[in-house]
Amino acid sequence: MNKEAIAENLRAHTLKVTPQRLKIVESLNTYGHLNIDMLYREVKESHPNVSLATVYKNLAIMTQNGLLEEVKISGHKSVFEVKKAPHIHLHCSRCGKIEDIEIDLSYVKAEAEKRSGYIVSGSEAVMVGVCPECRHNR
Ligand SMILES: [Zn+2]
Ligand SMILES: [Zn+2]
Repeated sequence: MNKEAIAENLRAHTLKVTPQRLKIVESLNTYGHLNIDMLYREVKESHPNVSLATVYKNLAIMTQNGLLEEVKISGHKSVFEVKKAPHIHLHCSRCGKIEDIEIDLSYVKAEAEKRSGYIVSGSEAVMVGVCPECRHNR
């Protein structure tokens, strides 16, 4: 995704386009999932004077406006990603990487609603395990 497309996406979420925000989205497009420390490092490369608080504030508003999504990983710092179609996450307990896997959760949602009487509006699923690379290089 080029800078203009990212800028358009920011505007579509009623977010002002700033160089830091462009850099944050660009980094997430490149790496998929990054925590705040990693994003701070990325933004600092092109904007050496940026503070951690500024990156934090940007992440908060971009998440609030639905451009980004925060993925909570138990026992680790949250990672952020550009919001996309519903999917679940795989977390490798050895190397720490986080990957997306698109699985249709509508059956699980329907089943949860049927059994509980809730109207389910969202879910956060993180599956923990060992990735293929780690399984092969032990
Ligand atoms: Zn791994
Ligand atoms: Zn994801």
